Amino acid sequence: MKRIYLDYAATTPTHPDVVKAMLPYFTEFFGNPSSIYSLGQQSKGAIEEARVKVAGLIGARDEEIIFTGSGTEADNFALKGTVWANEAKGNHIITSRIEHHAILETCKFLENRGCKVTYLPVDSQGLVNPDDVKKAITPKTILVSIMHANNEVGTIQPIAEIGKITKEAGVYFHTDAVQTVGHLPINVNELGVDMLSLSAHKLYGPKGVGVLYLRKGTRLLPLIHGGEQEHRRRASTENVPGIVGLGAAVEIAKKEMTAESERLTVLRDKFIKSVLEGMDHTRLNGHPTRRLPNNVNISIEFVEGESMCLNLDMEGVCVSTGSACSSASLEPSHVLIGIGVPQELAHSSLRFTLGKWTTEEEMTQTYEVLSKIITKLRAMSPLLKSKR
Ligand code: PLP
Repeated sequence: MKRIYLDYAATTPTHPDVVKAMLPYFTEFFGNPSSIYSLGQQSKGAIEEARVKVAGLIGARDEEIIFTGSGTEADNFALKGTVWANEAKGNHIITSRIEHHAILETCKFLENRGCKVTYLPVDSQGLVNPDDVKKAITPKTILVSIMHANNEVGTIQPIAEIGKITKEAGVYFHTDAVQTVGHLPINVNELGVDMLSLSAHKLYGPKGVGVLYLRKGTRLLPLIHGGEQEHRRRASTENVPGIVGLGAAVEIAKKEMTAESERLTVLRDKFIKSVLEGMDHTRLNGHPTRRLPNNVNISIEFVEGESMCLNLDMEGVCVSTGSACSSASLEPSHVLIGIGVPQELAHSSLRFTLGKWTTEEEMTQTYEVLSKIITKLRAMSPLLKSKR
């Protein structure tokens, strides 16, 4: 059975050219970048080359790129680092209710240590209202953190509009762009952000490498102390193969991003249309157009997300559900609840995320398999029977 992978938002396969670029840095060029002899300096040079590539992709200066161990670390760094460096100014953070756990759990941690956090609501399509940001800012506000695009429902936030507001108010602005870098054009100056997080494994790079973009002049304390790497902003021996891999992934993204996002938008919209028109009691979650080119999130009434997910898996199709399946409590997704999807429907949701190797045939096959599974599961559904 051929596998159909439709969970590119969870992680992407590492591109073969990325693997090729990384391999010599495990073996031939294994030197520690802090060593002054040439073997070490070769590693150092490779890191700096990758830094230039990443900076170029997002319109930043090279020295504003800090390599981290993940997107989660970049998010933690942005929030904790800003709070610790700006205690004299205030202790208030503004974020949204539908951020990734890397942001929400960090906010919770900071709240337990005296910070005040405002969690802005979003509308039924997942959008933050920039006016709400403006109204929430107080003299104690030090940071606004709003994600660029949501990882579950794909909604793309009005970051540039929010950027104007934070700039006027003199408040730092961070965006979690883990789902957008390498997929949508990004320029940190046009967005008006002071900090931006990204993660290599979401753009066909390796796992365990991220970046925090930090605008020159932004006050931030380090999260990890030790050596002098990354200009003393993030200690520890650099993950040289990983960073080289990110650089290679960025080069591929620069070349392929525009055509790829157009191709995926067509596949996405065709799939959404076929599901909404071809299957009863289905609805799209998130914004119909302001959404990631590769994201389809739908609720399918009277069937449980986990059952659909496992049945699809048996047919070789990998997708995500609207519940945190890893948690014992099977909590419905905070994002779906945040956009007003009723609890039962949140449990009946599936996320399909498409990518570089997704074909039209795969999407047609997925539709057919899904359709069969839904018919089978609905025939057994006590929920549907009680409705009839
Ligand atoms: N932020 C968003 C929006 C994400 O989708 C993810 C990963 O799913 C992360 C942060 C965490 O990134 P990483 O897996 O590199 O820690």
